[in-house]
Amino acid sequence: MKIGFIGLGNMGGPMAANLAAAGHDVTGFDPIAPYPEGIETAQSGKDAARGRDVVITMLPDGAILRAVAAEIVPVMARCTVFLDCSTVDVSSARDVAEQAAKAGLLPLDAPVSGGVGGASGGTLTFMVGGEKAAFDIAKPLFDIMGQKAVHCGASGNGQAAKICNNMILGVTMIATCEAFALADKLGLDRQAMYDVVSTSSGQSWSMTTYCPAPGIGPESPADRAYAPGFAAELMLKDLRLAQEAAEETDADTPLGLAARDLYARFVDEEDGKGMDFSAMLPRFTRRSRT
Ligand code: NAD
Repeated sequence: MKIGFIGLGNMGGPMAANLAAAGHDVTGFDPIAPYPEGIETAQSGKDAARGRDVVITMLPDGAILRAVAAEIVPVMARCTVFLDCSTVDVSSARDVAEQAAKAGLLPLDAPVSGGVGGASGGTLTFMVGGEKAAFDIAKPLFDIMGQKAVHCGASGNGQAAKICNNMILGVTMIATCEAFALADKLGLDRQAMYDVVSTSSGQSWSMTTYCPAPGIGPESPADRAYAPGFAAELMLKDLRLAQEAAEETDADTPLGLAARDLYARFVDEEDGKGMDFSAMLPRFTRRSRT
């Protein structure tokens, strides 16, 4: 396929490289990031989008997605798939999809889970909103960039799935970290805590796959001095998006709200910026109740 790829940062760069390595004709644009090997260089987003079968965007946020969409939608041919893989607010995803559909394009919102490692290794999970026909066209590309793609329904539902998943992740990571900190104060050995919880009803991905305690469980960012991994500020971004969506839909999400506030404090006022999101554990162990 002829693919335009806009946004070649930490995630987009390796995703575009995997598509090129699989034999697709990829033309990319990014104002700052280096161009990965095998990618043809465009001078603008418009250049990257014109005359392609599929245009993929991997951008920082909804405002930038809206700006890029305003630029590229008018130059894309009818029936081109407009595949946005960024994590953005549900409203931006739905507005951009509506604009694209009106222009005769096939929009998909397809945020990912799996981080930079998943992007490089081609093992991302895609959560996809939009028409099934568009999903079917993009499926071979999902299979190159990832290991799983779930069609979640109408436009915006990919973003909805992403923020709900990450709200669970933020809450369970905090719960896991505060439980480890309590266990420390009770004199319970961390390995014993892990052995019990990882096979009991308190287990979660945060405990068994991404254990926040160094030297316990499978290797994780905790074993690399909490270098990310999944940075605390990215978790904060997703928790903020979840709260925006909860406010718009009048959904009661008290734990999601508490998680957002804790990560906001951690990133903005404490030493969480640039740390993995599991560094909540040393944060809790340093603190007392007040
Ligand atoms: P990044 O900042 O490394 O990359 C974004 C790129 O977009 C940058 O290179 C920037 O120059 C480019 N860009 C900005 N404005 C542009 C424009 N007008 N035209 C073209 N390019 C433009 O971010 P990232 O880590 O690659 O994340 C991308 C998206 O993926 C974000 O929405 C993020 O939330 C999401 N995400 C990231 C991770 C992760 O672990 N990094 C995991 C899952 C999802």
